[in-house]
Amino acid sequence: PENGVSGSSDTGVKVIVRVRPQSKNEEGETIVQKTSGDSLSILGQQFTFDHVADTTATQANFLLIFSPNGFFFQIDIFQLVGAPLVENCLAGFNSSIFAYGQTGSGKTFTIWGPTNALLEENSSSDEQGLTPRVFERLFSRINEEQDKHADKQLMYQCRCSFLEIYNEQVTDLLNPSQKNLHLREDTKTGVYVENLTESSICNMKDVTELLKKGLSNRKTGATSINIESSRSHSVFTCVVESRCKSMDGLSCLKTSRMNLVDLAGSERQKSTGAAGDRLKEAGNINRSLSQLGNLINILAEVSQTGKQRHIPYRDSKLTFLLQESLGGNAKLAMICAISPAQSCRSETYSTLRFAQRAK
Ligand code: ADP
Ligand code: MG
Repeated sequence: PENGVSGSSDTGVKVIVRVRPQSKNEEGETIVQKTSGDSLSILGQQFTFDHVADTTATQANFLLIFSPNGFFFQIDIFQLVGAPLVENCLAGFNSSIFAYGQTGSGKTFTIWGPTNALLEENSSSDEQGLTPRVFERLFSRINEEQDKHADKQLMYQCRCSFLEIYNEQVTDLLNPSQKNLHLREDTKTGVYVENLTESSICNMKDVTELLKKGLSNRKTGATSINIESSRSHSVFTCVVESRCKSMDGLSCLKTSRMNLVDLAGSERQKSTGAAGDRLKEAGNINRSLSQLGNLINILAEVSQTGKQRHIPYRDSKLTFLLQESLGGNAKLAMICAISPAQSCRSETYSTLRFAQRAK
């Protein structure tokens, strides 16, 4: 690829299962064990993915582990999916990371980090999530590339947006008075959200400000554990544009986008006893996640068999919005988060089945 940046050339979706530590109020033995780098067993049944990250996996860049057999690098989430996201994006591919799983399984922890840490002033904690790490890497790689290609006057520009899809309605998290925004399609620019705030970012301070603002605007319900935030998808998007001058003096422009997506909780939404809006909402959430799953299946099939198939992007706001980041040459990583607790067994099985189908 141009600019000397090489992204991964593999197609399909990279599927990582991440098992969070058991929490204090979950009783009994854990029922999930990692059995190798890419497999786990749950109650005796084996599942294989691209990678399995258990509780020894860190958020941090890497960790040197000393063991009787010498030392080795510990798997960590940024290295597994964050660094490739940045390289793929710089190489010109639209690239996304999705976190899937039931509420409480570790999606938000993985994508943003402990949100209270993000909202505090010093966010240099080891527990920082993927998003701040991705942007630290993005800025340092952009500087490297600009220096390396200074002769071609290579220049990067980044702009970000942050939105939430709740009950099939799009809200601008950077300006929450903008509710129920419309998705539009344009032959030149593709799919976009009308009137969505886009902010230019130049450094980590800019990114942190956007994250703070957006995360504090996420829907939080007065009742139970942020019931509405667990029912909404939040999507942080960065459009990366590069301009350079080629040998013949013409300028070339490349655009690619990165999406970091914290999906709604995958638990079966209870519709019993619900009526009206609540009932409709439960249906919408189940539907948009299962449509994402179907779509990823179809994309995996198309990339394996090369067969043409109708790809139903328009079936949900999420897939329509991310259309250009799902099909074609786009790079996807799906982090499927699970709890190791007995009490979560049936949701864990359902997440593992989703993860398996995404391959
Ligand atoms: P979700 O977004 O899927 O609902 P959270 O990310 O909020 O779940 O995680 C639920 C709780 O578990 C939080 O208190 C979080 O800090 C903790 N947690 C999740 N994953 C991990 C992990 N890998 N290591 C330590 N704590 C974790
Ligand atoms: Mg969450």
